[in-house]
Amino acid sequence: MRKIDKQASNEPQSLKNHRSTPNTNFDGLDKSDLQDALLREQFFLCAYCMCRINKKNINIEHYKPKSKYNNLELIYSNLFGVCDGGENIPLTSGKKRKLHCDKKKANQELLKLNPLTNSVDLLYFTQDGTVKSSDSDISTDIKLLGLNEGIFLKKHRANLLKSLQSEYSRLRGKSLAERNNFLRSKKKFYSQGFEGKLPEYCQVALQWIEKKL
Ligand SMILES: [Zn+2]
Repeated sequence: MRKIDKQASNEPQSLKNHRSTPNTNFDGLDKSDLQDALLREQFFLCAYCMCRINKKNINIEHYKPKSKYNNLELIYSNLFGVCDGGENIPLTSGKKRKLHCDKKKANQELLKLNPLTNSVDLLYFTQDGTVKSSDSDISTDIKLLGLNEGIFLKKHRANLLKSLQSEYSRLRGKSLAERNNFLRSKKKFYSQGFEGKLPEYCQVALQWIEKKL
């Protein structure tokens, strides 16, 4: 998870219009503009697991569930773009599907973790791709979102870390300036992305780079 800079100015006019129409709800909204706005705002990453999302696979998540917070169902600051939770990954026979992100969270509420707050800074990643926190509420939220259980999530994070570390290890013997240049250019890539898209699981790389610099 990374912090999302959610701006009221990014809210599409179609959502505002829909909200001001009497007797409307989220299901009746044409979601195309909203999907585009959330994708751009989140650099095409799932708000929870940071896997790639796009116009074809984006789901719209209500941070505060609409089953309980009906008044927030059309409020832009309560809406995030998320992945399909792994429900479309083909399974090898005998394997049980473990969902993640809002497909696992469903109508439950997170205790503290919120992509709009600095709570995301309390997450850290271990070498095997596990995401952890020393905060007990956030540890509960990690479980609620299935961030260590979703098929491939841990593996993808571990692989990203391994490939970055292997690139860096090739600079062994080079000057400190050269190694730091490498780290700074990677930092730029994982924090700014390219053509409006950030690399998947970018926080994993960024945390490692920041420890090295
Ligand atoms: Zn996700």
